[in-house]
Formats: sequence, structure tokens, C-alpha cells
Amino acid sequence: MSKLANKVAVITGGNSGIGLGIAQEFKNEGAKGVIVGRNQETLAGAVAQLGDSFIAINADVTNPADLERVFKETAEKFGKIDVVVANAGGGTVGTVESLGEADFDKTIDLNLKSVYFTVHKALPHMNDGGSIILIGSNAAHRAYPNFTLYGAAKAAVIYFAKGFSSDLLGRKIRANVITPGTTDTPAFDKFVPAEQIDALKKHFAGEMPIGRIGQPSDIGKTAVFLASDDSSFMLGAELIVDGGMTYLS
Ligand code: NDP
Repeated sequence: MSKLANKVAVITGGNSGIGLGIAQEFKNEGAKGVIVGRNQETLAGAVAQLGDSFIAINADVTNPADLERVFKETAEKFGKIDVVVANAGGGTVGTVESLGEADFDKTIDLNLKSVYFTVHKALPHMNDGGSIILIGSNAAHRAYPNFTLYGAAKAAVIYFAKGFSSDLLGRKIRANVITPGTTDTPAFDKFVPAEQIDALKKHFAGEMPIGRIGQPSDIGKTAVFLASDDSSFMLGAELIVDGGMTYLS
């Protein structure tokens, strides 16, 4: 029996990288639902990869009105929502001296406000007993040059898993957070000149205790566990999925 048979999921940022990896693993386990993003081309490409299982909704996760539309349309189309993955996010890179108020607002809006309002707008449509999965980052645990703002926002996301779960005890909705380490996605490529990408991936792989960087499927398989009844005794927990990068290197 598939682990997520008949479950309906909403995955923000499901058109790229880790979010697409989660959608693929969910599909493999029998889930259906919605992927959310802004780029029409990558949304269409992801839906094509996911077959009939997922539809795309174009929305900006920093806009609560957009999020309200996402969950209303999902509930209307599928009749219920069992699993919500707040995955969309990304880094604004720079030192505390170089980043100003606009960078601060952008980083907090994308990584923190979006997660709060994804959950806030999902809840009226979610089934009791459902699962909320947040995506943190190991930048919340270690100091990386230029990632202070992003790491601080992700540290708050890790707290949200506890806070949401304690608010939702009456409805038995569980929230947990996955903390990825360096994972092979288009986000990685954005920060690096094209001709250096392969060499840098090799370099990072050499620095990882496990000897390789993460793949979106590593995070996807963990998300399947948190979405399924296999994790029914887990709430407010953080699963660090990082090849040992956070505590062993
Ligand atoms: P990608 O850049 O590959 O994907 C980011 C996704 O977020 C895209 O689908 C993008 O869709 C979506 N997105 C970004 N901004 C918005 C927005 N305002 N509204 C709607 N969707 C948006 O990144 P990753 O897959 O690497 O990252 C996914 C998550 O994992 C992020 O939260 C990131 O912080 C976290 N993470 C990643 C790590 C890594 O090494 N890759 C390590 C640790 C954490 P669109 O382009 O259509 O807007």
C-alpha cells in the first residue's frame, strides 16, 4: 500500500529543486494535489513531470491574499487538504554591513512571513489530523559568511514547527520541520558562475562527512515520512537531513 494513498498535498515552490523532489516522492507514494510557484514555465514543466497527480497554481507566497486563493481553490478542486509543505524560500546573500532594510524585508517576507501565512491560510481548509511540513536550513545552526539574515529567518522557521503544533493540539495537526544541508538544486547554481558549478559541487561533496551533497529526493523521502502515518507520534520535531554537515564537520 502506498504511504500517501488518497492524501491531498499543497507544496509551495513545488516547481523547482527540493519542492519538486518532494512532489515527485509524494506522487510515487500515491499523493495528489497542488504545486505553487510564480514561474509559469517551470510550473508547466513540473506538472508535465508529475503526470496527472499535481496541478499548478501561480501565486506569490509573500502575499497572504494569493495564499488564501491557493487553499480555497485546492479545497474546491480536491475536496480536502491533508498535507501542507511550506518549502518556497531562498537566500539574500551579504554581510551585515552590506545588506540594508530592503534586503531585510525581502528575506523575512520570503522565508518567514510566507511560512506563517501559508499555515494561517491553509488551516481553515485542512483536515484534522493533517501534517504540516516546514523547510528550514542548516544555516540556522551554523555561521556561514554572508548568510546571517537568511539563517536567522530559518531559525525562526524551526521554532514555528513547535509553535504551530502547540496551537493545533486540539485538531491533532502535526507540524515538523526538515532542515536540509547543501542540496543540489537550481538555487545552488544561482550563486555560482556557471563554469565553476561542477568544481564547487565536488569541493562541497568532499567537505561533507557522508561524501556527497544532498539530492532533492533525500528531502522528498523524509517529507513522505513526515506526511505519512509512520510519523504519527512526531510533532514539533526537527529532522536534520544534511549528510552530517551540521554537527559532524
Ligand atoms: P529553488 O530556487 O530550486 O526553488 C525555490 C522555489 O521557491 C521555486 O519553486 C520558486 O518558484 C519558489 N519561490 C521562491 N519565491 C517565491 C515566491 N515569492 N512565491 C512563490 N514561490 C516562490 O531552491 P531550493 O529547492 O534549493 O530551496 C527550497 C527550500 O529549501 C528553500 O526554503 C531553501 O531555503 C531551502 N534550503 C535549500 C538548501 C539548498 O542547499 N538547496 C539548503 C537548505 C535549505 P518560482 O521561481 O516560480 O517563484
